[in-house]
Amino acid sequence: MVVDIVNELGGLVAQAEDISPSGGSQREISLGAMSNETKFSMKVEERKIIGRHGNSLSFGAGLSKFLAYNGLKEVWVNSDGLELRDAILGSTLAQYRFGKYRTNSQPDEVSIHYLSGSEGVLKKARAIAEAVNFARDLGNEPAGSLSPAMFVKAVKQKFKGLPVEIGVLDEKDLEEQGFGGIIGVGKGSVNPPRLLTARYTGSGERPIALVGKGVVFDSGGINLKPSDGGIERMYSDKCGAADVISVTLGAALLALRADLIAIAPLVENMPSGGALKPGDIIKTYSGKTVEVLNTDAEGRLILADALAYAQQEFNPVALIDVATLTGTKVQALGSRIGAVMGNNQELVNSIVGAGDRTCEPYWQLPLPAFYQDLLKSERADIRNVVGSGFREAGAIIAGLFLNEFVKETPWAHLDIAGSALANSDSGWTARGATGFSVRSLLELAETGLEV
Ligand SMILES: [Zn+2]
Repeated sequence: MVVDIVNELGGLVAQAEDISPSGGSQREISLGAMSNETKFSMKVEERKIIGRHGNSLSFGAGLSKFLAYNGLKEVWVNSDGLELRDAILGSTLAQYRFGKYRTNSQPDEVSIHYLSGSEGVLKKARAIAEAVNFARDLGNEPAGSLSPAMFVKAVKQKFKGLPVEIGVLDEKDLEEQGFGGIIGVGKGSVNPPRLLTARYTGSGERPIALVGKGVVFDSGGINLKPSDGGIERMYSDKCGAADVISVTLGAALLALRADLIAIAPLVENMPSGGALKPGDIIKTYSGKTVEVLNTDAEGRLILADALAYAQQEFNPVALIDVATLTGTKVQALGSRIGAVMGNNQELVNSIVGAGDRTCEPYWQLPLPAFYQDLLKSERADIRNVVGSGFREAGAIIAGLFLNEFVKETPWAHLDIAGSALANSDSGWTARGATGFSVRSLLELAETGLEV
């Protein structure tokens, strides 16, 4: 596939057509193209998304589909009225396929040429797409071929030659240094855990720490998930880790003036004779003890360790965790909207703003103190769930659990459950891992925080 910038139009020409009489920020865009005999036209699928960026992303993505639907191989685009970077990004992202394991998979040989624009714009769009696609690749990889150690290896390979410092703690380091959450969750698997860090230094200031949940497979542990509950999709429980690592990749490719440290606790949550048992009590990195009432609420245990580690080791200006954490979040907001919670309203606002500008929308959920008592334990400092059968406010309670491991640092928690994995192609989103959060967090790193 080729997406590039050219100086003149040729052959089949496409352009955005504003078909909404009112214009403004809620425009609908359709895509028109003219060949010698035929006029092609289609409405871009993702219309009425907020603002110009959404329209241009949709246009770029719609154009890719347009070629496929009409069996066309090459199109020139009149870029008038488009945000060029977003249009190029939309075209590129929509072309993504995870075809690695399909022996008959053939890449689409299509070319999309956008008229006029700087090479810088093209480079920027390509860098963002590469970051998103790396997150998708990691997210889509089956658990059988991406253990924690293999995840680390894949990241090291990808970052070769880039100005990003990679750090790895293995199971021995983790045990010695008291990462009781990560060790506890990982000990049921034959594939031992890792803690991966990727540090990008572009400004020399205090970093933004990005913590991502990396459960390479979540069976539920001894609280085994049922066969009809989507267990076969649980290779995607590592998408938070894939996303935060890919944000540092994007920052390095874009040479952003920002400091980022991505921290990815990587574990496989499996049932075995050595696995964590319901009722066990673990001591986390922070020193706090947790009564584990349900081994399927494991993401918060490894995040607890990583959040405490991030604050102690890196003194970040802000702390953001990204996790496919709760089914309740999917029930509340569906897959197209991420949930955001936090202890600092300015940070939450910055994330919501960055999400709006990149069409990765977030909706804030509260963290009310009066629910905190639900996590009180009689046997330890805190318990990881309220109890079996308690189904209320699961996304919020998970957020409140994480809050226990954050001190004064401005912190936000992004629950991307459902958003991380798409069942079908739609606009620039390809079926499979979506990389949801990569573009908004890159935007945040680029524009800066107000905390
Ligand atoms: Zn789980």
